[in-house]
Amino acid sequence: MGLIRFLIIVLLIWLAVHYFKRWLDAPPAKRQKPKAKQVESFVACHTCGLHIPQQEAIEHAGHYYCSEAHRDADHD
Ligand SMILES: [Zn+2]
Repeated sequence: MGLIRFLIIVLLIWLAVHYFKRWLDAPPAKRQKPKAKQVESFVACHTCGLHIPQQEAIEHAGHYYCSEAHRDADHD
């Protein structure tokens, strides 16, 4: 009976190591994504002052706007 217990323990340790390795391999890519993208530069709308990500902002004549309506409003 000692051999079976030994085999079960070895199997459990192997499973634990196996899942631990998988856990170590998987997370980094998922953990870093949300923060790395959101901390990009924000700009203020030249018309209303709303802060928006630079990627989503509309640029016109060196100024940033939150929407096309505000870009047009400032243009007049
Ligand atoms: Zn605006």
